[in-house]
Amino acid sequence: MASNRMKLELSRVVQGRSRLGVLTGLGRTSQHSLEIPGCLLYTHLGTVPHLTQDTLQTLRNIPSVTQVTLNHIAEQQEVLEDFKQGFTKFAGLHDTVLYCSLYDPAAPCPTGFNTNKTVSVWGSSGRIELTVDKFMALQKTVQPDWYQTMADGETWQNNTSRKRVRKSVDRTLAHLDECLLLHQKSQELEGAEVFGVVQGGDILEERERSARETAKRPVAGFCLDGFQSDSMDQSLRTQLIAAVSRVLPEDKPRLLQGVGRPDEVLDCVEAGVDLFEGFFPFQVTERGSALCFDFDISSNPERAGRAPPAVLELNDNQRDPAGDVPQNGDTNPEDQASVTPFEINLKDKRYRDDFRPLVEGCGCYCCTNHQRAYLHHLLVTNELLAGVLLMIHNVVHYQGFFSALREALANDKVELLKRRIRRPRDEQTESKE
Ligand SMILES: [Zn+2]
Repeated sequence: MASNRMKLELSRVVQGRSRLGVLTGLGRTSQHSLEIPGCLLYTHLGTVPHLTQDTLQTLRNIPSVTQVTLNHIAEQQEVLEDFKQGFTKFAGLHDTVLYCSLYDPAAPCPTGFNTNKTVSVWGSSGRIELTVDKFMALQKTVQPDWYQTMADGETWQNNTSRKRVRKSVDRTLAHLDECLLLHQKSQELEGAEVFGVVQGGDILEERERSARETAKRPVAGFCLDGFQSDSMDQSLRTQLIAAVSRVLPEDKPRLLQGVGRPDEVLDCVEAGVDLFEGFFPFQVTERGSALCFDFDISSNPERAGRAPPAVLELNDNQRDPAGDVPQNGDTNPEDQASVTPFEINLKDKRYRDDFRPLVEGCGCYCCTNHQRAYLHHLLVTNELLAGVLLMIHNVVHYQGFFSALREALANDKVELLKRRIRRPRDEQTESKE
């Protein structure tokens, strides 16, 4: 149930939809806050992949909300039941707000297993079938500060029928009502905030119905599901999110699941989204890439605390943000297939003797101590340090982008920011040289 401690204070709403503000009173102690638009801290079982807690603590602007996913945790249920003190303590986390979601946004999830009463998640040893009772028993052992309720979200494939979409909305509302009933009776979950899940696939009326009905329930915020990257054309996604935003109450946060690319984040913020899952830097790291897109909108690029624009020299066919991928070097075709225009792939041979930092002027540990050539060497020799260094840079760069986004909203510079992140690489290079 909404504990009424979390508050969304909007300082600005741009063009009727893009929201700038801060969520206050977060966590069981109400001491935390989170600026919006913003993203959550992506983890595997409470750990940011490749980074220890003490390394993480050295990074600036780390989100105050840590996301864990039930598919990872479900297999630990018995251990957590024995432990009794909740997942935050179990994972050695401190000073964070714990958010528990159903799925890992960076892991593919097989579909076709949900029924009227159950939802399946996939752990390391296979499928785990959840009923609402089991789902809520898990939440009681996790003891999160926020959690999304059980939801049937298998509507992201293009050919999902209207009937299946309607069923997904109905089931998700039924699961929500059952979760709320059990939540009210639970001592362990007292003070935890419930996020209802908005479904509806690509059907406008179902999206609006799902949003309207979910908003009638006593939830603290909303998860927008079924908009995952690759599952939907961006213009349709923006249109549907804008329609959902019109229906949802203004005073509660909207968390979009499964979208992390900077250009898509910008479009979705303009449609009314407040929060994103922070999995994108992890995906980039896993392909051996470094984020290097330009988000500098200040008039003084030397200003402290902000990475000046990257000097970029990517392949011609990486220029179009919606376009295709480079094909060269010794890189794995699978990695290359998903390389976005916002990153450089350090496995590429061209970086073998490139002695510049990942991003000129970036203040992160990796960029201040190492060169691209060293990262290339670590990657081709499969050294674990490659992932550590790339993750440090990618997390810092991505958080810098969100800071720039909030600054752009505050100072009417959103169009400038859009041009920055989308402009062709050769222009970026020329204008900085
Ligand atoms: Zn860096």
